[in-house]
Amino acid sequence: MPSAAAELSRAVRRPDELVALLRYKRKAERATRALREDTRAAPHWAFAYDSLTRVSRSFALVIMELQPELRNPVCVFYLVLRALDTVEDDTRADAARRAALCRQFYTFLDLPTQRGPQQPWSTSDFGEGAEKTLLERFPQVLTCFHHLKPEYRAIIRDITKRMGGGMADHIDDVACDTVADYDLYCHYVAGLVGYGLSDMFAASGAEEACFSDRTELSNSMGLFLQKTNIIRDYLEDSNDGRTFWPRQIWSTYSAALADFADPNNRKVAMPALNHMLTDALRHVPDCIEYMSHVRNPHVFNFVAIPQVMAIATLAECFNNGAVFESKVKIRRSLTAKLVLRTTSMPALYQLFFDYAVSMLRRINPADPSADAARTLLNKIIDVCAPHVPPAPDLVIPNVLSIVAFCGLSSYVLKRRADHYDGAVFTWRSAGGIMEPRDMLAVAMLFLVCVYLFSFFLLPYFSRAQMEEFRRLEIARRQLADEQHRLRRAGKLTSDTVPPLPAAPASHYIEG
Ligand code: MG
Repeated sequence: MPSAAAELSRAVRRPDELVALLRYKRKAERATRALREDTRAAPHWAFAYDSLTRVSRSFALVIMELQPELRNPVCVFYLVLRALDTVEDDTRADAARRAALCRQFYTFLDLPTQRGPQQPWSTSDFGEGAEKTLLERFPQVLTCFHHLKPEYRAIIRDITKRMGGGMADHIDDVACDTVADYDLYCHYVAGLVGYGLSDMFAASGAEEACFSDRTELSNSMGLFLQKTNIIRDYLEDSNDGRTFWPRQIWSTYSAALADFADPNNRKVAMPALNHMLTDALRHVPDCIEYMSHVRNPHVFNFVAIPQVMAIATLAECFNNGAVFESKVKIRRSLTAKLVLRTTSMPALYQLFFDYAVSMLRRINPADPSADAARTLLNKIIDVCAPHVPPAPDLVIPNVLSIVAFCGLSSYVLKRRADHYDGAVFTWRSAGGIMEPRDMLAVAMLFLVCVYLFSFFLLPYFSRAQMEEFRRLEIARRQLADEQHRLRRAGKLTSDTVPPLPAAPASHYIEG
């Protein structure tokens, strides 16, 4: 956990993020204060929201900012599933006991809230810290649950039942073998949350009734968040003896998943990581489509902020070996900036566009997943591009600056010629000083030159360089294809194959 001083020093280097961090903190304090007022007369709700802020850094604020009609059911939904997840995750406990409790968990929801030794939800030996407290005082959450409208209770009960069953199956099976198993596990632990939330949005009237029917898109929303966490948490899960990366992916690169943590195996770990990231990217177009249907601004913030955090985390993990050394996190100040920016669909398109371009630039052309990643990222860029405002049109300023450059330089040269008896390029050859209007012309000429260089010539050089990289990569690929074709035809043996030229240093190659 970075210290507050380190966080502050990083933020000071980025003033915009520092301002965002301060605004974010004020916003969080305001929301917490308002909720404290609202729940003063109801200790069970006070516990629920206090517990929420302790167990979830990322979801607490977005839940607290929902409208009251949705805020309470979503808070209870989150806490119930978090309690269930604590039972699933605690590998210190016996697997059979955990699996049995996961399957029964939904039945606890309708029990009387008076706690006693005979009560089956006495699961207080699970978890640590805030999660342990949540389970110890779970009857308070049940009191909140009993105060919800029947339609919300039915949704929470149904999803808890299905999720608990899926978790129990995974505890029994221990690992995901295929990508289909991995998708199914993520469906149980996160896709179902998407189902439940969509049902709640529809039931509350905040969104159209058809939200309940968007199961594919709701599932993708959960899968994208879950897969991002699973990739980022590789080291933590590996140390705790948990396995979520599917064997079908990691076994392509290594005999054991735990081997990736060894820095000597970085060469095989990186393609495995990029394969996992590419797999997660395939859910992004669905997520964007889901969010484009949301009409209520509070619901939009609630669903979009976690998605933006996920794409930012995924971009941070992209082709980054640090995933195997520690938990890769986005800076708190950047989190604050993203939360404050994610207020509308155009802002969301812009953020997804920017992160997709940033990942596209970092693709290693030699990586086995490079082509698939490039295709998916270009798909995301294509979805977002029509909604991203184009870069400002600089044609008129550029033309004016060229005219100004020609006019001002002619004037200055002429004045020098007049002043120094035709010795234009000999500074002070005839003595004397220039008049104020001449000094003004020189200053303007200087500014015009700065503009031309920064806004016109630099991007031109940069584009020319990109084109050169692109041309080299295409030539390299054609040569590789030709060698492959000749080798298959038996006209080329491994002894006679000339080496391929190295890939261009820049990875910004659009497929
Ligand atoms: Mg879990």
